[in-house]
Amino acid sequence: MTGQQIRDIVTDCVFEGDMKFREPMSRHTSLKIGGPSDIFAIPENVASLGRLRDYLQKNDIAVFPLGGGTNILVKDGGIDGAVICFRSFRTIESLGQDDEYAYLSVGTGTVLQRLVMYSMEQGYAGLEGLAGIPGTVGGAICGNAGSFGYEIKDVLVSVDLMGAEGQIQKVCAEDIRFGYRKSDILPTDMLIRAEIKLGRDKRADVSARFENFLRVKREKQPIWESSAGCVFKNPEGLSAGKLIDEAGCKGMRIGDVVVSTIHANFFINTGKACAVDFIRLMHEVAGRVRNAFGITLEPEIKIVGRENGNR
Ligand SMILES: Cc1cc2nc3c(=O)[nH]c(=O)nc-3n(C[C@H](O)[C@H](O)[C@H](O)COP(=O)(O)OP(=O)(O)OC[C@H]3O[C@@H](n4cnc5c(N)ncnc54)[C@H](O)[C@@H]3O)c2cc1C
Repeated sequence: MTGQQIRDIVTDCVFEGDMKFREPMSRHTSLKIGGPSDIFAIPENVASLGRLRDYLQKNDIAVFPLGGGTNILVKDGGIDGAVICFRSFRTIESLGQDDEYAYLSVGTGTVLQRLVMYSMEQGYAGLEGLAGIPGTVGGAICGNAGSFGYEIKDVLVSVDLMGAEGQIQKVCAEDIRFGYRKSDILPTDMLIRAEIKLGRDKRADVSARFENFLRVKREKQPIWESSAGCVFKNPEGLSAGKLIDEAGCKGMRIGDVVVSTIHANFFINTGKACAVDFIRLMHEVAGRVRNAFGITLEPEIKIVGRENGNR
């Protein structure tokens, strides 16, 4: 975007919230990698988001909805147009319960682990397998996050989705196509709110399952280091981490990006890594797995943004 376009936005768009310009995305991703976004907007409420969305659409400015930035690799050139942050959309409300189920309305900027903890405290079942998954509810729905056989799609009833002109539409979960770590939610659609349905159980039982899953995660994954979780999807019936390990890639390094020695499907930023090196390492690792086993690994993380022209 040109400086003039950015100035026009500031003067033309009635916006409530915080807006930054040329904001480094490395500040907003778990990998701590990524060049600047032209605009970084944190709308305060749905009405303000709607006005901004409409303005951006009419002026042909691209949008990128951001959750916790825990499943994306932003390229070194940053992101074109406006990144929209859902930080102000953090609510968990009870919609009531019956003998079997509890119904919740959740803002999509809610930190997923806050929702998981809330459910555990209430004795609501269905989210315990998501223990330890970072990011927000919106990001989890977009990528159908899950582990230990649990997936967020299994508790989803509906989402409120904002389309290109700022209009809001309720979409039932059955009308969204979910797959392994994916959904057909469009990159330009913004999830505002989700309704979920959880089973009712004994608090101690939900808690025991949660603790057990979290313990396994802590033992097997370098969750305290800068990563974006699993880099590649598991091929049908196989573990990508195991294939990468058996292809001899553990500990491989390009620049400051290293294949974790704890879990080979996690690539770690050990210092000042850049996206170019991360992508090079992905190619190198995928090539070795292909040569060793004839299997092509498919990325699980989403690579977004523009190349850095200066590199
Ligand atoms: C240590 C670690 C462990 C992990 N373990 C797991 C795991 O066990 N299982 C698993 O599935 N994942 C795992 N992940 C990956 C990641 O945490 C999940 O995919 C998470 O659900 C991503 O959520 P996010 O809010 O960070 O999304 P982001 O990374 O911010 O975004 C992901 C996608 O969702 C879109 N998006 C985000 N919010 C919205 C919104 N409100 N409206 C529309 N689109 C939106 C973005 O545009 C982007 O396309 C792990 C990551 C880390 C770092």
